[in-house]
Amino acid sequence: MGSDTLLEFDGIDKYFDDTKVLHDVSLAVNEAEVVVIIGPSGSGKSTLLRCANRLETVQSGEIRIGGIPIQDGNVDHLRQRIGMVFQDFNLFPHKTVVENITLAPATVKDIDDQVARERAMDLLGDVGLEDQTDSYPNQLSGGQQQRVAIARALAMEPSLMLFDEVTSALDPELVGEVLTVMRELAADGMTMVIVTHQMGFARDVGDRIVLMSDGEIAEIGETESFFTDPETDRAEQFLARIH
Ligand code: ADP
Ligand code: MG
Repeated sequence: MGSDTLLEFDGIDKYFDDTKVLHDVSLAVNEAEVVVIIGPSGSGKSTLLRCANRLETVQSGEIRIGGIPIQDGNVDHLRQRIGMVFQDFNLFPHKTVVENITLAPATVKDIDDQVARERAMDLLGDVGLEDQTDSYPNQLSGGQQQRVAIARALAMEPSLMLFDEVTSALDPELVGEVLTVMRELAADGMTMVIVTHQMGFARDVGDRIVLMSDGEIAEIGETESFFTDPETDRAEQFLARIH
């Protein structure tokens, strides 16, 4: 492990019952790096992300954060360190935008209400929603809701953010505003692992690209060389099909 490795998957095998869905997956993500995971539906992208914050258990191998196996620590503490945003925003429908953001820091981290609120307002400014503080989720567009979900994850001050197809449920005209927020986060030096089908975005924001296929990593490459000169037939086929 390099000294600046933040997240490390080391030889991960994952089964659902008798079906093996991850095969010896190894991947190290460095501090401030943006790794984009692409690949066909069912290839194991979501499962891999979910293993990192213990939403799934693995049958062999080890996942480490900052060199410490994730099994060793408290799961709540782990999830404070890893922010995760999903396709479905999962905001609390009966709470306002600002309450959605302050709830976890105020309870889990025992942060003073006023401090949590000020921090939430800053985060809402960062995602361009300072004027929606007291709205309810159903008053917002999908793109706005997803930006609230990102702000909510950031409110826990995670060291790592995982994004699983966060624009897949959005109308096309709302995708850009969410990708913009993610680009800004990357530019600020956040360590990110992003599963996406948005290839233009992947190419823009990714430091490295991981192609998954049938539960395996088919190729890992620096972004430009991955897209212009892939090493494996599998990656060539994948790129040929999406172009
Ligand atoms: P992707 O995110 O790349 O589309 P997934 O990680 O969701 O792929 O799925 C990988 C494989 O694991 C698929 O074959 C899927 O059907 C299977 N799978 C995912 N979640 C479950 C589950 N909870 N129970 C059983 N099989 C699952
Ligand atoms: Mg998925």
